[in-house]
Formats: sequence, structure tokens, C-alpha cells
Amino acid sequence: MKRVLITGAAGFLGSHLCDRFIKEGYHVIAMDNLITGDLKNIEHLFQLEQFEFYHHDVSKFIHISGDLDYILHFASPASPIDYLKIPIQTLKVGAMGTHNCLGLAKAKGACILVASTSEIYGDPLVHPQSEEYWGNVNPVGPRGVYDEAKRYMESITMAYNSFHQVETRIVRIFNTYGPRMRLNDGRALPAFIGQALRGEDLTVFGDGSQTRSFCYVNDLVEGIYRLLLSDYHLPVNIGNPNEISLKDFAEEVLALTGNTVKIVYKPLPVDDPKQRQPNIEKAKTILGWEPKVDRKEGLKLTYEYFKSLPESEWYKQPK
Ligand code: NAD
Repeated sequence: MKRVLITGAAGFLGSHLCDRFIKEGYHVIAMDNLITGDLKNIEHLFQLEQFEFYHHDVSKFIHISGDLDYILHFASPASPIDYLKIPIQTLKVGAMGTHNCLGLAKAKGACILVASTSEIYGDPLVHPQSEEYWGNVNPVGPRGVYDEAKRYMESITMAYNSFHQVETRIVRIFNTYGPRMRLNDGRALPAFIGQALRGEDLTVFGDGSQTRSFCYVNDLVEGIYRLLLSDYHLPVNIGNPNEISLKDFAEEVLALTGNTVKIVYKPLPVDDPKQRQPNIEKAKTILGWEPKVDRKEGLKLTYEYFKSLPESEWYKQPK
């Protein structure tokens, strides 16, 4: 049985990756310090023999006994509301956490995939963004703690590949959504759904003309699985190129929920990207991957998940 370490396993994406690797017959070693994650996301796996969980901060030395075939490094605060609150931990997990995971991969002869992000493109001057674009990031802006941590993550991963011959993969993840997101994580999609569930007006920042493209979590997991098992070490965008303005998206959420509340507009936060759309030609060519779940279907599945939660969850404040 192949053994995979998943860091950030109790988070939104990490927990879906645990499910997928268990389903594929792997032994999954899950690691998380629960700074933004929740054990509820993986508690259904606890009784399985091929699953183990370690409560550990990956920015500190990582010890795993026995063999390891793969590492998926997903530990990191991911939404602005989190990384603006814990900027130093965010920089540390992108820098020291990644260094520790790469060292472990080298020691075990494991292949490692690191979770990078479309945020490395910053507020892009090129649209849509292909992997060849170097980005437009403000290193000293508030979002720099996340963007630069991930840019460093990519650099050190490439260095371990070329200098130590470690098998590495880099996925640049674009906005992803689905069950197990947190309603209060500050991102547009759960924020709109949370407001709709509570019967509040939907808040759009700016004039709502800024665009996003949302990828359903199952599509993302499929892309990551294919990338890990490929032999491609340069960064690959995984996301859904179907772009929508936030104003139109808010209207879609209202239509889905049948809600009669209004859309209200507030000032745009500093350095908020105006456009985001992945160019996924590389993923199509190299991995034979493209997203399959359209927004209408994914949104419905996500809304049903949030609706099924106890009502107290709809009102929960961020950690
Ligand atoms: P999340 O906050 O739900 O999950 C992150 C997990 O990492 C949490 O369980 C948290 O407790 C854990 N963690 C954070 N710091 C840690 C540390 N030092 N040691 C151990 N565990 C730690 O976020 P997510 O949306 O699941 O994102 C997962 C990864 O994917 C992140 O690396 C993020 O940068 C990347 N990503 C996500 C998206 C997205 O749309 N969700 C987009 C781009 C990149």
C-alpha cells in the first residue's frame, strides 16, 4: 500500500484529498495544527485502519516513521480573513513548513506536490493568466504575506528539484469552492451563501465588475491527482476558466436560493485583484484535465451542504 502524507488535512481542500486518496487505496497520514481547519472535516475517516492523524505544526520539524511515497503540502491559511489575522504563521508555513516538507521528501525519496495559488499572479496585468506570466504582486501590501510566501514556496521547491533531484510538483490553484468551506472565511462565495441563508442583504465590494472564476472541489482534486502521478515538475494552473463578475454571481446566488434580499455595495479592500481567470491549456495538454462540473450544479451542491448544517453554523464568527 502506497503511503501519502497530507499536510493541512483538516482543512477544506486537505480533507477532500484525504477522501480521494483513501478511495484510491492509499495509506493516508494526515497532519494539521487546526489553526484554521476543523477535525469535523475528517472525523469520518478516524475509524479506518489506513488513516492516521497527527496534530502538528509543520513549520516545526516533521518526523514520520516508515516509508513515504508522496507528500501533498496543503497546510497554510488560505483566505484573506485568516492570513491577515495570522500573517507571521502564514509566512512561516509557506517558508519553513515547505522547507520541512521538502527535507522530508528528500530523506524518504518521496515525490512532493505543493499547493501554490493564483495569488502568485497578484493583480494580473495579463489576462487570462498562463503559467509563463510572472505576476504583479505588491510585496509590502497586506496580501504580500500570503502571495510572497507562496512565491517563495515555488522557488524553494524548484531548488530542491534541481539541486537535490527531489521529485516535485507545483499546482497553482485558482478559486475553489464546495462542501466543507467555512461560511465565515470571508471569500465571496460562502459569504453570499451565508448572507442568503441568514436572510441578510448580499455585500459586494467595489462596483461588482471585478471577476472571479470558481472551480468545484471535485474537479480540482482530480487535477491534483493527475498532476501528482504525472512526471511534470513545472507549475500547472488548475481552475475553471468560466469567468463571472461578482455582481452577476451575487444574482446567481439570489436566484438559486429564491431569496428576495438586496445586493449592497461597499468599498473595495486594498490590493483586491480585479480579474482572475486561469489559462488551463497546460493542464489540458499534459494531464488531459479540464473541469467537468458547471457552476450551476456545483453551486447547488454547495448550497445544499450549507443548508444542511445546524443553523448555529450559519451565525458562527471566524476563529
Ligand atoms: P483551509 O484553511 O481550509 O485549510 C488549511 C489547513 O492547513 C487548515 O486545516 C489549517 O489548520 C492547516 N494549517 C495551517 N497552518 C498549519 C501549520 N503550520 N501546520 C499544520 N497545519 C496547518 O484552506 P484551504 O482552502 O483548504 O487551502 C488549502 C491549501 O490550498 C492552502 O495551502 C492554500 O494556500 C491552497 N489554496 C487554496 C485555494 C482555495 O480556493 N481554497 C486556492 C489557492 C490555493
